[in-house]
Amino acid sequence: MSKIDFSAIKASVTMQQVMGLLQIQVTKWASSDQARCRCPCGAGDAHDLSINATKNSFQCFGSKPKASGDIITFVAHVKSIGLRDAAKLLQEHFMSKPSVDKPAPKIANDNSASDFNYGDALEAFIARLE
Ligand SMILES: [Zn+2]
Repeated sequence: MSKIDFSAIKASVTMQQVMGLLQIQVTKWASSDQARCRCPCGAGDAHDLSINATKNSFQCFGSKPKASGDIITFVAHVKSIGLRDAAKLLQEHFMSKPSVDKPAPKIANDNSASDFNYGDALEAFIARLE
């Protein structure tokens, strides 16, 4: 079983990514970072879900008791799954493959290839042929 790093998931996955994954349609932006929409859990009305895209947090007023928390809690709430399953889903979806948002890591010592002397290598190769 692979290790699930909750804090790493929360640090690298954004609320917008989670909303995309869960196909959540924003019905109204209360401010630049506060969205109101219908929660896919289906408990309430069109504005029962409040999302803070800056804090990566949510509150669902439709469900009883009221649900709130971070992106992992959000996925668990919407999909009715446990926190561990929700974290695993996010980790597999957003962190197991290279992200287009992040540049590929630079290879250290990439000048070692230029130290290779092609002339000497060619001479050695020709010497072996003769
Ligand atoms: Zn809900």
